[in-house]
Amino acid sequence: MTATAVTEPVRSAIPFLDLAAINSEVDQTIAEAWKGVQSTQRFIGGPHVDRFEYDWAAYCGTRHAIGVANGTDALELVLRALGIGPGDEVILPANTFTATAEAVVMAGAQPRFVDVDHESLLVSAETIRTALNSRTAAIIPVHLYGHMPNMQEILDLANSAGIAVIEDAAQAHGSTWRGRKAGSIGVAGCFSFYPGKNLGAYGDGGAIVTDDDALADKIRSLSDHGRASNSKYAHDAAGRNSRLDALQAIVLSAKLPRLDGWNRARQEAVTHYAEYLSEWSGSLVRATGDAISAYHLNVIRVADRGRIQEELLHQGTQTGIHYPTPLHVFSFYGHPGGPLPVAEEAAASVLSLPLSPNITADQIERVCSQLLEVTESA
Ligand SMILES: *Cc1c(COP(=O)(O)O)cnc(C)c1O
Repeated sequence: MTATAVTEPVRSAIPFLDLAAINSEVDQTIAEAWKGVQSTQRFIGGPHVDRFEYDWAAYCGTRHAIGVANGTDALELVLRALGIGPGDEVILPANTFTATAEAVVMAGAQPRFVDVDHESLLVSAETIRTALNSRTAAIIPVHLYGHMPNMQEILDLANSAGIAVIEDAAQAHGSTWRGRKAGSIGVAGCFSFYPGKNLGAYGDGGAIVTDDDALADKIRSLSDHGRASNSKYAHDAAGRNSRLDALQAIVLSAKLPRLDGWNRARQEAVTHYAEYLSEWSGSLVRATGDAISAYHLNVIRVADRGRIQEELLHQGTQTGIHYPTPLHVFSFYGHPGGPLPVAEEAAASVLSLPLSPNITADQIERVCSQLLEVTESA
């Protein structure tokens, strides 16, 4: 080696989410279970799906879990099974992934966007109340980033208004509010198993959990071509095809025993971030009240986000934005368009920092020192 060679070791980039590390823990278990499916050729439904549904319901503390094709379908199927459709309005926060609103549109109802609490960035009874009217049929609180709002206040409001509470728990696998799991509090809870979620499949997947026997039967039928139970060609309704397949169920069953450990690792990482950033002037979006978050995302709020994101990337740190556009801004949702000042401010300032169950203390420290440097250089 000559004296002019690079002597400084190049430090590796810090990924936003290290999915490969998560999946490598279960690859072997999955490969073995998959051999069994190859021998029976039961690719859709079957014993692996039954077992995952049973275990997911037990984990969530509900009577039923119904596997479906993705989280968006889960929301749409609950709305349809509840008879919500044309002429109805469904209240939801403006700062969520577009899928929450798409499901309402697919069911034939009108999304009605509301603002969120300025600290939690979640809906509250106060923000929901502003949008209630005689056409309101349901409210979909979104457990954004894994955090849950005061569900008792929301249930009380919904009960007095005679409307349903449907939880969008797509970012909250294992989050709890007063000891109750996300998804188990409203009339139904909807999950996505998109690969990057806290519990992720090897493709698309989703589930609905509920304690309501009749609703569970209806959802199961609608998600499988409106089939009458145990019948191939007797149909009760014009349903659709939205089912979970055996491969995804195998992956989810292999990962489920590790979910709590992974969530704990995420919580610890978030605590480390807070320690390193204790002197920082910016703000961290954290679970509030009686919620214990599964910390799907680790979100901060910064002014001058575009520059900060670019400078972090330049130093090897990948970040995300969840989400850059509040949904009431999209004209295709046909909403009068706000103003919804908190959701708008959040869309302009939120930045999600790297977070994986296996992120190291060293990586967290590097991200934090980079963040301190780029925000102080403004
Ligand atoms: C991921 C997600 C969905 C949609 O789930 P898919 O499985 O991608 O259809 C819905 N709502 C929220 C809040 C999500 O994060």
